[in-house]
Amino acid sequence: MTRLTFFGAAGEVTGSCTLVETEGARFLVDCGMFQGGSEARAKNLRALDFGFDVREIDFVLLTHAHIDHSGLLPRLAVLGYRGPVYATPASIDLAGVLLPDSAHIQEKESEWQLRHQRRGDRTRRSVSPPLYSVTAAQAVLRQCRPVPHGELVRPANGVEVRFHEAGHILGSAWLEVVAREGKRTRTLVFSGDLGMRGRPVLRDPENPLLEADALLVESTYGNRLHRPMRETEDEIVAAFEQTWNDHGNLVIPSFAVGRTQEILCLLGDLIRRGRLAPLDQVFVDSPMASQATRITLNHSVLFDDETHDLMAWLRDHPGRLKVEFVADAERSRALNTIREGAVIISASGMCDAGRIKYHLRENLPRAECGVLIVGFQAAGTLGRRLVDGARVVRIFGEPVPARARIHTVGGLSAHADQAALLDWLGNFRRPPGKTFLVHGEAGTMAVFAEAIEKRLGWRDLVLPKLGQCFEV
Ligand SMILES: [Zn+2]
Repeated sequence: MTRLTFFGAAGEVTGSCTLVETEGARFLVDCGMFQGGSEARAKNLRALDFGFDVREIDFVLLTHAHIDHSGLLPRLAVLGYRGPVYATPASIDLAGVLLPDSAHIQEKESEWQLRHQRRGDRTRRSVSPPLYSVTAAQAVLRQCRPVPHGELVRPANGVEVRFHEAGHILGSAWLEVVAREGKRTRTLVFSGDLGMRGRPVLRDPENPLLEADALLVESTYGNRLHRPMRETEDEIVAAFEQTWNDHGNLVIPSFAVGRTQEILCLLGDLIRRGRLAPLDQVFVDSPMASQATRITLNHSVLFDDETHDLMAWLRDHPGRLKVEFVADAERSRALNTIREGAVIISASGMCDAGRIKYHLRENLPRAECGVLIVGFQAAGTLGRRLVDGARVVRIFGEPVPARARIHTVGGLSAHADQAALLDWLGNFRRPPGKTFLVHGEAGTMAVFAEAIEKRLGWRDLVLPKLGQCFEV
């Protein structure tokens, strides 16, 4: 008997965590943090309350390093888990940056609450301690075991696992798990997060040419189609032309992991194809983005052919794309003296934290400058207010007039859209025994389920709820 229990990403997009119990082993696929919304903290505290000791878990499989898939791994260790965490080498390297950072943010937040409490701020009665410390994050990283894409690993007796390219972020994988069950076997497929085909940097998601008794498929954008890449490139080119005509700087708020590297590749490619003039003042001003870029270059084995060609071309044409990875805060401040021709890529991607706030404070009031929005902006963030056309925004508590031109690029997404998801599913030789839709808002999943039934004729679709358990 094989059993699946859903501990997160059930009817929502964060907190990915599935408990799998087979004849010979008990393991988790992902151990992600719940993010956003007022209940996230409570959910994170409850998340690993499995009703049994976490030390009874034999191993953990990690699909990729994003915090909503990996962010509670340190918490697992805090609760006593000492077993292995299997992930691709690139995922382990990225988790080595993301998990300590997540811990650091929580420690800071907790200190801040404590300070306010001491000052007698009555609105803040309780201080929530961090879910885990930087030390705990580093401890769980030592439990990670690298498994390259394509290699077979046997984490327990009677269980075989293979990681396949998912094309979502560096190191991302979908998982094929074969578990022995008496004389027969059970095949379980976990999509993790799937990327779009034909995007910069990474290879396309590998197609599943197999049969599965159970499939878990992500549904983030199961209800919509992304804009074509060609339009996205046109939008980027237009933003550059406008900014250079106006003699200003172009500020690009960008997620440190994935999006920054994608943007650098896109710029290089547009220059190579003659659509953009050479750029000699591109600054990546985010310590995490610089680290993530270095990790990405260390794993060039994961690049697609186009990216290998582009890297070779850039090496042969020095000076066409000059990128400076800004080292310290002093150099970061010095960028403020550049009035024209600078491209400043900085984090956070939604403009709520990090050095991007300084660059926006400096460049937003100048009508000749541009801000290129290349990622999703959640409601309530500074980035969202800019997209929505606010005339004045608050940065570090001060009003800042938003006179710069805001360019929004729609088509860059790390997630497959509905057509791409259906294409990927269409590669299964026959409908899986049971298909679980996860990692999507309830409304999105309802639309996606309908599309799967209509287009592929699959019947056994399940939209699991938090805590629900199924036999497969
Ligand atoms: Zn992801």
